[in-house]
Formats: sequence, structure tokens, C-alpha cells
Amino acid sequence: MSLSEVYAKLIEAVTLPFNNLTDPEDRLFIPYLLSSLALAFFVYYRSKIKGSFWRYVFPKDVWLGRSAMVDYGLIFFNAVFKVFFIGPYLLFGIYLSYHVELLLPEVFGYPNVALTATQTIILYTIVLTVALDLSIYLIHRLMHVIPIFWEFHKVHHAATTMTPFTKYRSHPIELILITVTVTLTMGVVTGVFQYLSPHPIKEATLIGANVLSLGFMVFGSNLRHSHVQLKYFKWLERVLLSPYQHQIHHSDNPEHYDRNLGSKLAIWDWMFGTLLRSDQVEEIRFGIGKQDEANYSSLWKNLSTPFVNLWRMVRRIGPNKHF
Ligand SMILES: [Zn+2]
Ligand SMILES: [Zn+2]
Repeated sequence: MSLSEVYAKLIEAVTLPFNNLTDPEDRLFIPYLLSSLALAFFVYYRSKIKGSFWRYVFPKDVWLGRSAMVDYGLIFFNAVFKVFFIGPYLLFGIYLSYHVELLLPEVFGYPNVALTATQTIILYTIVLTVALDLSIYLIHRLMHVIPIFWEFHKVHHAATTMTPFTKYRSHPIELILITVTVTLTMGVVTGVFQYLSPHPIKEATLIGANVLSLGFMVFGSNLRHSHVQLKYFKWLERVLLSPYQHQIHHSDNPEHYDRNLGSKLAIWDWMFGTLLRSDQVEEIRFGIGKQDEANYSSLWKNLSTPFVNLWRMVRRIGPNKHF
């Protein structure tokens, strides 16, 4: 890679986080932030919170605190990582869908019925959304269960205060895991639809975003990473995860560990027994416990601690040690 290419990529990385604000497919798209603000006002008004609304939504110790600074730092670090190390491999999804499309007729023969153009768009949108949601639940669950993965996912959970930017607080290794999961799922689902339908495979979109994701983002997905406790009706929290249910996922109380692992849908947590509803939890503090949080107090510590802990793990089970 020439110096001018490196320079162009660096410029792309620096502008990437700002592009999110104008991208309807991203949660930080300004209209979604505004709809979240309106929902925050609803919570403020209903809960009869004392003091001004602005102070409730934008407390200095949350937005300018040490934990938030790490979030902001990771957003820019990950943008550089994405541009240099993840972007070049995203085409793999297209290769995968192409090979799935070629493989299916060999195994099952050609399909007897072909989907119409409308059926293709509606079914593809639903199947892709549900398949992505399930695959993200599964990889998230693995990140909580497998100790090596947990070391990297812990960076997301080490946030002691949350803002919508905390969603992007991930270790680069977690970014790789999520990208591989999403690319595999999209590649397989798209390949299956290319096999079933002669029409162009595309999602149903509104203002450039998948309609189902759009609904999720308009209705307060940004409040999941915040202190605004938006809860849904009991019955609805078995189908869709409310922002407060994700906040429970960030609780440092061991009773709440490994719960509410889903993304949009609550049904996976409900089916696999990891669901906690809002009415089952009184109070929460975000984080992983005060003792451990000191290891994640700066950008550098968040990047390095997982590797330090892995090294310790390897030494503990090394050839000279007995189990
Ligand atoms: Zn988690
Ligand atoms: Zn989270």
C-alpha cells in the first residue's frame, strides 16, 4: 500500500464516525437520536423526575466522564481498524451467497415454485432480520460463555456509565467476531433467496434503511445504552427487548449476568431461558464490579487488558502446571 493510499484510508477512518450521523442504516442517524430524545422526555415526564430535563438527559459525569471518554476513543480506534482490516474482507459475503446459490440446485434440484418480486422483498426482509437477530444472540451468548471470548466482550461491559455511543464500545477482536457472524448469515440467507427467486434480492427499505430495523431505531434503540429507563409492557418484553432490559444486561449484579442477550427480539432469551423482564429487577449499577473496572479505565487498558488476561490464562494451564 502506497503512502497516499494510507493517507486516503486514514481520512476515511476519521470521517467514518461522523458519517454515522447522516446514515439512515446507523443507530446514530440524527433523526433516531431526536426520536430517542422525545422518548426520554416521555420517561422523564411519567416518572416525575425532579430537576430540569436537560440535566436528566445530559449529566456531565455521564457524557464527559472517564467511561464515556473510553467510548469515544474506541469509536475512532475501531474506525481505523475497520477501514484497514475489516473493510477489505466484506466482499466475502457476496462470494458466499454466490456459492450457496450454486450449491443448492446440486443438492435439492431446481425449485418448483419461484417467488414473485413482492414475495421476494417481503420474505427476504423478514427472514434476514430474524436470522441476523438469532445469529447475533448466539454469538453474544458464546461471548459470555467462552472465557477467551468473554475477555474481549468484557470491554463493552466495563462501561460504568452509558450513552448511545457505548454501543460502539467494543474491542477490535469482538468487531471481527460480529462481522464474521453477520457476513456468514447475510451470505447464506441471500444465497438461499437467489436460489428461490428469479428477481433481484433486496430488502424493503424506507429512507434507505431496512423497514424493520428502522422501526427498532425510531422507537428508542439509542436508549438501550443510557440511564433513561424506558420499559415496555410485560407481554411485549417477551417479544421485543426494551431499552431497560438491555440496561439489565449491563448490570454488575451477578444475578443479572448472562441475561437479555438478544438484539431486537426477546424471543430467543425467552426460548433459551435467559430472559429477565423489567418488573423483575429493581435497581442496577452498570459495570463488571468495582474491583475489575480499574483494569478498563483508559483506552489503552481496554485494548490491552484482554490480551494480558489471556496470557495469564495460558500460563495457568501451561505444560508445567497441574490442573
Ligand atoms: Zn454482553
Ligand atoms: Zn450493550
